[in-house]
Amino acid sequence: MDDIVLLGSTGSIGVQTCDVCRSLNIKIKALSANSSTALLEEQAREFQPEYVAVSDVKYYKEIKTRLADTSVKILAGEEGLNELASLKCGRVVNAIVGMAGLVPTLKAIEAGNDVALANKETLVTGGSLVISKAKEKGVSIYPIDSEHSAIFQCLMGADENKASKIILTASGGPFFGKKRSDLVNITKEQALKHPNWSMGAKITIDSATLMNKGLELIEAVRLFGVSPEQVEIVVQRQSIIHSAVEFEDGAIIAQLGSADMRLPIQFALTYPKRLPCPAKKLSLFDVGELTFARADEDTFVCLSAAKKAIKLEGNAPCIINCANEAAVSLFLKDKIRFLEIGETVEDALSQVKFKAAPTLEELLETRAEAESFVRKKFNLSEEICLL
Ligand code: NDP
Ligand code: MG
Repeated sequence: MDDIVLLGSTGSIGVQTCDVCRSLNIKIKALSANSSTALLEEQAREFQPEYVAVSDVKYYKEIKTRLADTSVKILAGEEGLNELASLKCGRVVNAIVGMAGLVPTLKAIEAGNDVALANKETLVTGGSLVISKAKEKGVSIYPIDSEHSAIFQCLMGADENKASKIILTASGGPFFGKKRSDLVNITKEQALKHPNWSMGAKITIDSATLMNKGLELIEAVRLFGVSPEQVEIVVQRQSIIHSAVEFEDGAIIAQLGSADMRLPIQFALTYPKRLPCPAKKLSLFDVGELTFARADEDTFVCLSAAKKAIKLEGNAPCIINCANEAAVSLFLKDKIRFLEIGETVEDALSQVKFKAAPTLEELLETRAEAESFVRKKFNLSEEICLL
C-alpha cells in the first residue's frame, strides 16, 4: 500500500488514522500537530516518519529536543505544513481542524497528491478553488467525513446515472427536540457530550448547534456537484445510516455501519479496495429500530444560516465558517453562551463584506474580517487571537 502524509495526526481523526495504518501496515511518511508535542513524539517513535511538523512555531524547539536522538526532520509553521503536504506520497490525509486546513489541501493538490479529506472546512471555505484545482491536476479527493464517505460509496457503480437527491443524515446532536428557551443555560460540558460519536471539541460543539450539518451540506454540494436544494437533511438518531442517495427512478441506496470513523478513514486510504477493518461490525438485531425526523431550523439557526450562505455562494460560506470557528473557540473558553454561537454566525453573514468570486487571498481576508467582526461584537481586545 502507498505511503501517506498525515496532517493533524494528534487529533481524533489523526489518532484513528494511525490505528488504521497500524492495522494495515501503511507507511507514514510525515506527521503533524499544532502543539501536542508529547503525542507527536510518541507517534514519531512508533511510525518512524521522515518528517514531522508543528504548525505553531512556539513548539519547534520542544519537538526538536524530544526527537533529538532520531533522524526525523523537523519543520514548523504554516510553511512546514505546506512542505509536508507537497511531499510526493500515495495520499495526503488532512485531519486538521478549521480553515487552517485549506492552504495545505491546495498545496497537496498542486503537488499532484490525492487527498483523503476529513477537514470539511477546506471545502466549505474554498470549495470552488479546491474542486477546480483538483480537476485541473487530475487529483482525487476521497471524503473521510462519514456522511460523504457514505454518499461516495452509494455512488460507486452508478455510472452515468445521476443522483436526483442526496439524503444527508444527522444524529440531531445532544439537544435534539429542545427549543431555544431550553438552550439558554447550556454549559460547555453538556454540549461536549455527543450521544453517538467521540470527536474533537470543535466538531462536537458544531454537532450540538447543527452547524456541523450546515457545513456538511456545503461539503456535499462541493464534492458531488449537486444543488443545495437536492440535499435533504434527515435526522437519523441512531447514526446507523450514514447517508443515502436517491436516483431518478426513486431507488434509494444507503450505506450503514457502526458509528466508528475508522471505517470511512480506511476506505479513503484503500479505495477502491475493501479490507478488514478494526471497527466493530454492525448487528442490525442490536440496532432494533431506525427512526427518522426533520431538523428544527428555527431552534438551530446555524443550519439555516449555512443554507443561506451556500445559496449566496461567493465568500458567504467562508464568512459563516470563520464566524463559527471564532464563536466556538469563545464558547469553549466560557466567554460566550451557547445560543450566541448561532447569533454570531447569523450576524456575520449579514455584516461581513460579501465577495462574489473570491480568490484565495480574498478568502484569507474574509477570515480576518470575520475574526475581527466577532472580536468587536464581544468587545474583545485586539490581542486575543480567535482563529
Ligand atoms: P481535533 O481537534 O481532535 O484534531 C485537530 C488536529 O489538527 C490536531 O492534530 C491538532 O493539533 C491540529 N491542529 C489544530 N489547530 C491547527 C492549526 N491551526 N494548524 C494545523 N493543525 C492544527 O479535530 P478532529 O480530529 O475532531 O477533526 C479534524 C477534522 O475532521 C475537522 O475538520 C472535523 O470537522 C473533521 N471530522 C472529524 C470527525 C471526528 O470524528 N472527529 C468526523 C468527521 C469529520 P494539536 O493536537 O496539537 O492541537
Ligand atoms: Mg460527519
